Amino acid sequence: SKRLIEVDPEVAQFIGKEQNRQEMGLELIASENYCSQAVMEAQGSCLTNKYAEGYPGKRYYNGCEFVDGIETLAIERLKKIFNAKHANVQPHSGSQANMAVYMACLNPGEAFLGMDLAQGGHLTHGSPVNFSGKLFKAMHYGLNAQETIDYNQLEDIAKRERPRMIIAGASAYPRIIDFEKFGAIAKSVGAVLMVDMAHIAGLVAAGLHPSPMDYADVVTSTTHKTLRGPRGGLILTNNDDLAKKFNSLIFPGIQGGPLEHVIAGKAVAFKEALDPSFKTYQEQVVKNSKVLAKTLMDHGIELVSGGTDNHLVLLKTDSVNMSGKEAGEILERVDITCNKNMVPNDKRSPFVTSGIRLGTPAVTTRGFKEAETKFMAELIVKALKNPTDEKIQKEVKLSVHDLCTKFPVYK
Ligand code: PLP
Repeated sequence: SKRLIEVDPEVAQFIGKEQNRQEMGLELIASENYCSQAVMEAQGSCLTNKYAEGYPGKRYYNGCEFVDGIETLAIERLKKIFNAKHANVQPHSGSQANMAVYMACLNPGEAFLGMDLAQGGHLTHGSPVNFSGKLFKAMHYGLNAQETIDYNQLEDIAKRERPRMIIAGASAYPRIIDFEKFGAIAKSVGAVLMVDMAHIAGLVAAGLHPSPMDYADVVTSTTHKTLRGPRGGLILTNNDDLAKKFNSLIFPGIQGGPLEHVIAGKAVAFKEALDPSFKTYQEQVVKNSKVLAKTLMDHGIELVSGGTDNHLVLLKTDSVNMSGKEAGEILERVDITCNKNMVPNDKRSPFVTSGIRLGTPAVTTRGFKEAETKFMAELIVKALKNPTDEKIQKEVKLSVHDLCTKFPVYK
């Protein structure tokens, strides 16, 4: 049959341009990564044609012998990575993994306590514009004066409000999360503890962040961030009853046919995560993040919480006299991609913000070590401190392209 370029040259051209953008720019969006060619090959396969409602061995369609094999591999590998008793690899996204767990653990209108979106939480942790804030009574904890999680506030709210569920996990938090403390607080008020480890799953897999499995009743994640798989979600638990509940919430509760081509990509990524080289990669992600943080601070740039323990840093853009929106746009013009982000006590709106979020998973995948990361951080400083100097902006952009050429993503 005909190739994409013949059938639909417009789409083919956009894909080509996006491929070039990914190769020739520095990707610092903390929630992005480059999955392997093998993962993309699995995801781009004939598996996209197959209906497989149900679970391996219990399908509503015939002809599922081979997708059963693939989904079983994904489940078994995932359980091994995180030392979990039960795993569901069918959530189409992190948001759907969370939705299934909320609906398994809460009745509509019941209360849960999650991290404030403006202080690092995710939309699905109870934002009023999200299903989580519309269907349930969402309450929030945030950060203390040191800009780390305010466990005292968390405990006070939990004791006063007695939520059915507490959520630990964040989209923009640069420090270690104390799951043991979360577990103790949840237990003391009889709440279910859900950990959404989407951002740090790769670090947890490599033993570089404490695992939530010993403290959480249920754990959700995306598969495409530090874990470096295809875009998707997953759910884990050691609790037999909860596993039954969230399995039936994913299907038939909120999804129909699973995306078996994505599940094949997940299976491949999980195999990669079990390889010793994955630990080396994650160690480098954290080393690079620390170098990025130190270099920025050495140049007088302020960071939320004054540094990082994980794969990301939150840069306060007031320290370079601009908004997060402006900083993001300046960096985009020199082909460095990041996203604007609220910082604690932000006086600007979420569309403008006073911060940017920078993460090292993607540049580490393309081979950056400490030296390249330091050089890149210096380029960021140069670009942000000289926003109107066209000569400097041009020099920075050339250096970015030079780095990208030296460290190709898909060789
Ligand atoms: N949970 C956290 C902590 C996240 O950071 C994200 C993604 O940004 C999600 C859930 C949602 O994942 P998805 O975009 O796949 O729905």
